[in-house]
Amino acid sequence: MSKLLQDAGFRVTKPRIRLLQALSKAGKPLSIKEILVKMRTKADQVTLYRSLDALARAGIVDRVDQNSGIAQYEFAPEKPHHHHIICTDCGYMDDVSCEVQQFIQTPPKQFSRVTSHNFELFGQCINCR
Ligand SMILES: [Zn+2]
Ligand SMILES: [Zn+2]
Ligand SMILES: [Zn+2]
Repeated sequence: MSKLLQDAGFRVTKPRIRLLQALSKAGKPLSIKEILVKMRTKADQVTLYRSLDALARAGIVDRVDQNSGIAQYEFAPEKPHHHHIICTDCGYMDDVSCEVQQFIQTPPKQFSRVTSHNFELFGQCINCR
């Protein structure tokens, strides 16, 4: 974690390390509220939001914005390409693997290649059912 921060030009601080560890351990996107719980800290949301924003600009975390309007963050390094499923009731989010690869290899006739894609899944989590 320290090297990751140093390479991106950040000062290595305990809160930053703990933030990245919480995200990395979760292995899925977390909202700011969830991150605060995982870090077991009383740090305020504005400060946390600012450091997440800076880390997102450096590419260390990914900000995942679904239509829920709740910003969620995940640890970006070494994560394979994937998509997200979100609970329409509570905003709970999880990773899903990408099943679009085959379509990308054989695009429609009028296209020479597919350069990117966007894909979101929505549903109800087990807590909301
Ligand atoms: Zn839910
Ligand atoms: Zn993800
Ligand atoms: Zn995909």
